[in-house]
Amino acid sequence: MNWTRQAIYAVLTVGLISPVAAPQLLAFPYSSQIAAHRVYSEAPIAPNLEAIVGNADRLAARSPIAMSKLDQPIFLTDGGWRWTMAAFASRSAFAISRAPFEAIVVNRSDQVADKTFRPAKVGGTRSLTGTLAHEMTHCLQANKYGIIKFNPFKHPELWKLEGYPEYISRHTELSGKNYSLTSEINRYMNLMSKATGIWILSEEGGCEVPNYYYKGRLMIEYLMDIRHLSYDNILNDTVSENTVYQEMIKWKDGIKETQK
Ligand SMILES: [Zn+2]
Repeated sequence: MNWTRQAIYAVLTVGLISPVAAPQLLAFPYSSQIAAHRVYSEAPIAPNLEAIVGNADRLAARSPIAMSKLDQPIFLTDGGWRWTMAAFASRSAFAISRAPFEAIVVNRSDQVADKTFRPAKVGGTRSLTGTLAHEMTHCLQANKYGIIKFNPFKHPELWKLEGYPEYISRHTELSGKNYSLTSEINRYMNLMSKATGIWILSEEGGCEVPNYYYKGRLMIEYLMDIRHLSYDNILNDTVSENTVYQEMIKWKDGIKETQK
């Protein structure tokens, strides 16, 4: 912990002892220790939660920026007042992570069905495993690069900020034998051509999300898997979002040409 982080931690601890910073103040009725996580829950803790948290941990640990995990509490709310108190302005999210406290707070979830829910025009579900792995990856970003660079007010461009946790948390689907990045790019372009705003339905049976989650994930995937850049390289790169996107489309079209 460097001095800036320590100073911010001190200020937050003294000045912001609120549910936003320390959700354990919300007195959750159930709790249990799962690996390095103290889990607090509004619903009784289901036996399969251990496997869900373990799988999310394994996904996050595959991230090249992973480091040995500190104690990282997880708060499973029922989407009611505890969620409202902790999530504050982010109520419509599946979950939030709170650096430097390492805390992950989840909107309403169904542990047995491995699902999280959020209010959305369409759908509104995602797997709890994927949601946890996404938030764990945000914690890794804050740990590795510091909360001065990764905080709600100052952070890299959204496609770099959200694309990376999406890429990491969706590894199982992206490594499936029928998966193809080029068809995913085509699918994204098709969805965008029909979209009227930034909200798109990125997965079957899933829910509408802002397009930079999907676009960012495709671009990070392209840069890391095809161009073999590291996340450090990507963060330091000053090439514009549009230039990277156009380059990715050119690559995709080139693949199509060679397959003709
Ligand atoms: Zn996120």
